[in-house]
Amino acid sequence: MQTHFTEAQLEDPQTREADAILRKCVHCGFCTATCPTYVLTGDERDSPRGRIWLMRELLESPETVSADTGFHLDRCLGCQSCMTTCPSGVDYAHLLDIGRERMDAVNKRSVADRLMRRLLAIVIPHAERFHLMMRLGGVARLFAPVLPASMKAALKKMPVRVGRLDKIGSKTVTFAARTQSRRRVILLAGCAQRALDPGINASTVRVLGKLGVDVTVRSESYCCGALAHHIGEGDAAHEAMRANLLAWREEIEAGDIDAIITNASGCGTMVKDYGHLAAGDPELADIAATISAMTRDITEYLGELPLETIIQQTKGGRGPVTYHSACSLQHGQSVHDLPMQLLRLAGFEVRQPLEPHLCCGSAGVYNILQPEMADKLKARKLENLGKAGAPWIAAGNIGCIQQLGDALPVRHTIRFIDWASGGPPPDDAV
Ligand code: SF4
Ligand code: SF4
Repeated sequence: MQTHFTEAQLEDPQTREADAILRKCVHCGFCTATCPTYVLTGDERDSPRGRIWLMRELLESPETVSADTGFHLDRCLGCQSCMTTCPSGVDYAHLLDIGRERMDAVNKRSVADRLMRRLLAIVIPHAERFHLMMRLGGVARLFAPVLPASMKAALKKMPVRVGRLDKIGSKTVTFAARTQSRRRVILLAGCAQRALDPGINASTVRVLGKLGVDVTVRSESYCCGALAHHIGEGDAAHEAMRANLLAWREEIEAGDIDAIITNASGCGTMVKDYGHLAAGDPELADIAATISAMTRDITEYLGELPLETIIQQTKGGRGPVTYHSACSLQHGQSVHDLPMQLLRLAGFEVRQPLEPHLCCGSAGVYNILQPEMADKLKARKLENLGKAGAPWIAAGNIGCIQQLGDALPVRHTIRFIDWASGGPPPDDAV
């Protein structure tokens, strides 16, 4: 794509980065077919190609841009399906980061929208606060008729039954391996995940422990920052990233850390991008690059270990499971087949739904901020998962599990692997 930035504009490093990305796009349109929002609306402005065009206009001539551009950028899920499809290697995700930041600068959001975003960034990244908010959700539901639409949407997404808060992550601790330890990793315990399903971290620690891996969790590490990053709350995102980097640097400098493990793929995509996000920060650039390179999704790490040695074989296998491939895992981290291979190794018959590349509509807090589009994508995904006919669904991201879990039994992949290696069944409340 041709661009027409002035020399003065190109003095800005962000504009230079955007220019390089834009120039890679040849406008072939292959990406439109795999973009969930374009599939739903058929509107070019809801496609990657259309949004790239809109962002070029925004960056070249911000004074001519209307609120319409913000509307279509907001409707992007950030699912990165377009990046998997693009034959030219267009870095759409980083262009979107830049485009959204510029859009927020030239066209102020409404007070209600800003308040909602601030509230989400203040509450959800802190497991204790989020857990408390979910508990208070029952009271808030009584006032739902008089609440603004965005608050009603947020309440609708909150689970009615709230379990216990995951203790893993509340203090700094190392879980010693059950066999003679050979490796040590740092686990990002996460935020919303701790409030929604404490079984995921428990299964992760148990499986790794059986494979001879010590697991260290740092209490300073409360969130990866992705949620805040994607809704324009840059300061909150930076604060979370910095807390992780400084805490993990101490562990890395102490020696013997084999990897940083993430078990929510939305977080994994973010942590793997720390190197890019902190590239211009003299305090954090080096450690951010190191940590991004050390980060593995739990399934990637298990793929490097002798998982078969801890699987308890059963006669006739463990039955069918449909694998839902989270966008942040398959598109954000290019991990698609490996979780299915591990599930097969654990004795499951793995099925895939139709349209596995399409987002379920969760996308962080997209389902709260864009409930109409999110609900359509959810319905489509549920129909495809239902057609696969397995009694269980496995997925590698808490956002998807939460989005689909009120209608189907969706559990994290690690919980199935834990079950197959002697742990509790995936539906156990733990
Ligand atoms: S597939 Fe890639 S090169 Fe083609 S229009 Fe989409 S982003 Fe541009
Ligand atoms: S990130 Fe997803 S929703 Fe956004 S343009 Fe790409 S494919 Fe479409």
